Amino acid sequence: MNVFGLLGNPVGHSRSPPMHEAAYDELTYDARYVTFEPDPSDLEAAVAGADALGITGLNVTIPFKQDVLELDLVEADELATRIGAVNTIDFEPDSSRSNSSGRATGHNTDAAGALRALREHDVTVAGADAVVVGAGGAGRAISFALADAGATVAIANRTESTAHELAADVPDATGHGLDEGVLESLLADADILVNATSVGMEADETPVPADALHGDLAVMDAVYQPLETRLLRDATDAGATTVDGAWMLLYQGVEAFELWTGREAPVDVMNEALRAQL
Ligand code: NAP
Repeated sequence: MNVFGLLGNPVGHSRSPPMHEAAYDELTYDARYVTFEPDPSDLEAAVAGADALGITGLNVTIPFKQDVLELDLVEADELATRIGAVNTIDFEPDSSRSNSSGRATGHNTDAAGALRALREHDVTVAGADAVVVGAGGAGRAISFALADAGATVAIANRTESTAHELAADVPDATGHGLDEGVLESLLADADILVNATSVGMEADETPVPADALHGDLAVMDAVYQPLETRLLRDATDAGATTVDGAWMLLYQGVEAFELWTGREAPVDVMNEALRAQL
């Protein structure tokens, strides 16, 4: 049996186990997906233990995504290194490890997941003008993904210096604050807007003024709890295309599944299992 899991602390809230196990059931693939909640000081021992036990793959979430990059046991790929976070570890058997060091490999499927979520909604990314609000973990992954796929990215963040720091690393990106009028101006000619802040999760609030939205925009929210955020309601009212946060969550899982198993993921089944929990 293949064992997969999620490494985080806390992980009790995770939607990943039912989503992945639905895929195993659908494909009659002999596997289980379990959650692990090590003490943060035990991260290295936890990853080494997973490797020694023959665990096939781990997803990684808060607070370990950045710390995994520091581990000798894991060789992060180029994208995860640029983003500064690993959310998927692939423990191929020692005999088949593709990298020269024989280490497990670290990936960031949040980036590919965000892109796939947009593309599955027929949003063209290459050549698009994109605005990413937020420059934390999600904002970093989404900004690199969009830029690598050919979009010109404007990053706007409450703490403006963080936006400038990120923009310095993302090809052709610009950094901005969230002062009055900034988003209105950035969004006037934009094609894509992504909310990568946590605003909209705790309360019915939005980081983007409703009058800055328009019908030529595709608006994706990384927030998936609730699914219908105030931003997405405003975007619908403005006639924009909307992509809720569950799509990004789904496709980061789909990307991890495909990376680990080499099989095409049963996306519809995973989507159903995920949405049943939201
Ligand atoms: P994070 O690293 O803690 O970053 C939080 C971001 O939100 C920062 O840019 C922060 O700005 C901004 N922010 C927080 N409160 C704000 C406020 N009141 N006004 C304006 N900006 C505010 O968190 P994260 O991991 O990037 O996650 C962000 C959101 O994305 C969460 O809701 C998370 O659940 C979601 N997410 C979804 C997926 C998915 O697959 N759908 C994946 C990852 C994350 P400052 O820098 O100024 O603090």
